[in-house]
Amino acid sequence: MSTSTIAPPRVLTVAGSDSGGGAGIQADLKTMLALGVHGMSVIAAVTAQNSLGVQGYWELPAEAVRAQFRSVVDDIGVQAVKTGMLASAELVETVAELLGPVPVPVVVDPVGVSKHGDALLAASAVSVLRDRLLPVATVATPNLHEVEQLTGRLVTRESEMPDAARALQDLGPAWALIKGGHLDGEAADLLRGPDGAEHWFRAPRHDNRHTHGTGCTLASAIAAELALGLPVPEAVAAAKEYITGAIAAGFALGAGIGPVDHGW
Ligand code: PLP
Repeated sequence: MSTSTIAPPRVLTVAGSDSGGGAGIQADLKTMLALGVHGMSVIAAVTAQNSLGVQGYWELPAEAVRAQFRSVVDDIGVQAVKTGMLASAELVETVAELLGPVPVPVVVDPVGVSKHGDALLAASAVSVLRDRLLPVATVATPNLHEVEQLTGRLVTRESEMPDAARALQDLGPAWALIKGGHLDGEAADLLRGPDGAEHWFRAPRHDNRHTHGTGCTLASAIAAELALGLPVPEAVAAAKEYITGAIAAGFALGAGIGPVDHGW
């Protein structure tokens, strides 16, 4: 007798590996498992990384990224995609080309620099990310540093976030989620929709320095919720709730910044 069950929605992360297990591909797959979707990965770069920082990274050849993508998409199929650390201009271009014809929601986390200040994207790749990847994004999820890098807008207070969201949408993504976590006070994020509607998501700030992997986790959670069928604002609300719980439960590991926790 067959014991097969119905397969869960499938979600693909195209990103970098974090050897310390806190961010990148590892955070993405944990998030997907916790939210009940089948997670799959296209590894774009391998980092040597721990709680103290990124000691080095090596990008994969574009051919290897293409091959992983085709293996997954042509057989298993995807209901949503998340992109994270893509390292180089060539890989950003490759991923944008691969995603163009795939008719599923794409969450672009435009990863630039880690919390420790280590660059995860070559300077030459920023304009390619802006011109080639953002136009295929359903939702883009920059932090304020990445907003400045991509739009040239410096955001120092919450009241400047709507203009920054509009400027980001002018670059192509249907929805812009501006993460205000680096400002003082409440952790407020602004989602601006294709119709210009603004949705604010607020959470009390947790006094917890173990926040490694927050950006990766939030973007993966949004992709998972989209694959489960939620509209974008509801998917972001559910993802915000997930990351808020994961930050509250973040724990010390190593001598530096520990990871958010997916087991809560
Ligand atoms: N390492 C990889 C592979 C990542 O993709 C990212 C973030 O997106 C990071 C590290 C940075 O994580 P954090 O800034 O949360 O420490």
